[in-house]
Amino acid sequence: MSVRSITILGATGSIGTSTLDLVERAPDRFSIHALTAQRDVAGLAAVARRTRARRAVIGDPALYSELSEALAGSGTIVAAGAQAITDAAAEGADWTMAAIVGTAGLKPVMAALAGGRTVALANKESLVSAGSLMTRAASDLGATLLPVDSEHNAVFQCFPHGSAERVRKIILTASGGPFRTMPADRMAAITPAQAVKHPNWSMGAKISVDSATLMNKGLELIEAFHLFPVGADKLDVLVHPQSVVHSMVEYVDGSVLAQLGTPDMRTPIAHTLAWPERMETPCARLDLAQVGRLDFEAPDFDRFPALGLALAALREGGATPAVLNAANEVVVAAFLEGRTRFLDIPLIVAKVVERYRPSAPATIDDVLVIDGEARIFAREILETVAA
Ligand code: NAD
Ligand code: MG
Repeated sequence: MSVRSITILGATGSIGTSTLDLVERAPDRFSIHALTAQRDVAGLAAVARRTRARRAVIGDPALYSELSEALAGSGTIVAAGAQAITDAAAEGADWTMAAIVGTAGLKPVMAALAGGRTVALANKESLVSAGSLMTRAASDLGATLLPVDSEHNAVFQCFPHGSAERVRKIILTASGGPFRTMPADRMAAITPAQAVKHPNWSMGAKISVDSATLMNKGLELIEAFHLFPVGADKLDVLVHPQSVVHSMVEYVDGSVLAQLGTPDMRTPIAHTLAWPERMETPCARLDLAQVGRLDFEAPDFDRFPALGLALAALREGGATPAVLNAANEVVVAAFLEGRTRFLDIPLIVAKVVERYRPSAPATIDDVLVIDGEARIFAREILETVAA
């Protein structure tokens, strides 16, 4: 078996760390080409040394010398800045994990696709914003885009590729997040600490808040729309608190195929790492007798308006998903810093989507302009409703 070169964009985050855990268990199968992070110099330097990475790139240019010192004598080539991350991605490792959070990951993902190899996509925000520009680029460039998001990875495993007409529905499951059963009148007081405490998954702060508002599931509907050619009307959300059934595909004959597993991102990551083969993982095995029961319920669009907002953006198409996503990134960051309230997140996002209506992007640069302008609108509206 030949050794595959691996690049991990966002190597110090939750997905990056899970990816490294798998890669480091099979040192004879993988070699690390590049690792990137935004600010965590110590974390990045430690994994770069441990894995003898060829390159380490820190996003914040002010941290260049700190990283250089930390990696002195290691043989790892050091660089800094957003462009350096994109350049490292462009070098085209055999397999790239796209695990930067937010549309900051868009250019690096596009650069990795241009390498024409395999890109495992966790960074859903980039696909939500760039949509068909990204999937078209992947197919034009001959790159393979594999979904890491647990729901999309589950659908990918159940989907009849090349025969989408056999599918009646894609059903994305949602845990419902930490506030699934919280009465509406208590939701005004939700704190960032409560919002980032997900009942089943351990994840980065931004996606944890998105899971709490259900914006995450909304973004995932848009993500599914771009990954699986069935049309928006065939995408459904089903709340499933145990996070054992990771998603389902219903066929026209009534058969429903599901992918199940314990809630551990290393399973979908391993699927993309070994694809089209399979590899062992250290994940806890699913013991259904111990789980005992699987519950399902319809999502509550009233208590979780972000889901409806994302659904409307999906149906509208054009620039709206990019505007929705950028506004959400700004408002979630403000919520995490205590500058706005939980229930204001969807209200502010809705206002941005209402007020800023650019025409559909034709290029990735258009997407980034729309993203930047939507952020300005979001910051302005934030100031008028600040906590
Ligand atoms: P995280 O916050 O734990 O890690 C983010 C990584 O991106 C870090 O390495 C950080 O240094 C880097 N980064 C942050 N801002 C950056 C910037 N401006 N430029 C370059 N790099 C930057 O996030 P995570 O939970 O690992 O999530 C990463 C992506 O994967 C997100 O898009 C998320 O929605 C998606 N995802 C995560 C999970 C999960 O279980 N954590 C599941 C499905 C999808
Ligand atoms: Mg998911």
